Amino acid sequence: MTKILVIAETNGGHLTVPTQEVCQAASELATLLKGSWRMLVDHRAMDVAGGIAPEVVSYSLGGDIFPGPEVQATVAAKIIDSEDVIMTPATSLGKDMMGRLAQLLAAPLAQDCIDFKVDSDKVLFRRPMYGGKLIADVELSGSPVLVSFRPRSFTVASQSGNLVEPSMHIEESILPKVTVKPQFRTGSERPDVTEASVVVSGGRGLQGPENWHVLEDLLDALGPNAALACSRPVSDENWRPHSEHVGQTGRAIAPDLYIAVGISGATQHVAGIAGSKCILAINKDSEAPIFKVADYGIVGDLFEVVPALTA
Ligand code: FAD
Repeated sequence: MTKILVIAETNGGHLTVPTQEVCQAASELATLLKGSWRMLVDHRAMDVAGGIAPEVVSYSLGGDIFPGPEVQATVAAKIIDSEDVIMTPATSLGKDMMGRLAQLLAAPLAQDCIDFKVDSDKVLFRRPMYGGKLIADVELSGSPVLVSFRPRSFTVASQSGNLVEPSMHIEESILPKVTVKPQFRTGSERPDVTEASVVVSGGRGLQGPENWHVLEDLLDALGPNAALACSRPVSDENWRPHSEHVGQTGRAIAPDLYIAVGISGATQHVAGIAGSKCILAINKDSEAPIFKVADYGIVGDLFEVVPALTA
């Protein structure tokens, strides 16, 4: 019987949305393979986890230490028993942790997957490669196999499990030298760019930070599930924070709607947005590469087009 372990990410005593999405993936895969799944979680989110996962293993580090990638990987390597598949969200922390865990277990790893399918008894994990130019179905050989899922690849569904007691206390002596101070929230009322269903993204075409109100007005019109993003030169110039930078070297996102404003569509940018369900590009250059990947395009000056859209 296939056994699956989800390694949870938490924020302020809650499971993050990408973790809940991975729970959905675990539940679907367990159903398809007639297997079971359980979750490994920091004790501060134990009650929430117990309401979602059929079985929970929680751990306490003592004090108020945040379980960063090194700690998570060390703890996971200790509790992994007869599991066949280990899953976590493909966030910066999740990908960092999975690399460490793969090394500790000498196990194969597929990062940044967007789906899976079961073909006879084989599980194939679907992941973008070569900056999103190719989607590959990857088979991992060995047991356990490790996989991280890109946020917004699965829909959160309500599940039910049992409340549990913490089952593991980690001694200070095994703690790694590096401790992590999490900074999940930017203070913005807006959702995180990886969790928003609509993302409005600005590029160098905006000409400077003083013009971002054009995008913010559109964002307000689109409602509370919309978030701002930007291209890399924009964050390099400090026009916008690095947490908003999407692309190969930034965040990978998969919103329902991605609106690219004044962005040329370089391959490194497209690598981070290829999972978007629908892309609308606004650019004054009809030859801009972004129109090759866009579902809809508006050729025009953004300073006229965006206020018109907002209105
Ligand atoms: P530009 O390429 O300068 O494009 C600006 C666009 O705005 C143009 O298409 C122009 O026609 C349009 N425009 C100008 N004025 C207006 C107007 N008034 N109205 C409408 N349209 C207008 N980039 C990323 O974004 N993310 C990454 O993760 C990333 N990683 C990289 C990694 C490496 C190793 C390297 C080498 C590069 C990386 N880059 C990344 C940079 C990338 O190659 C491009 O340089 C960058 O994406 C371009 O940003 P941009 O589209 O905002 O600017």
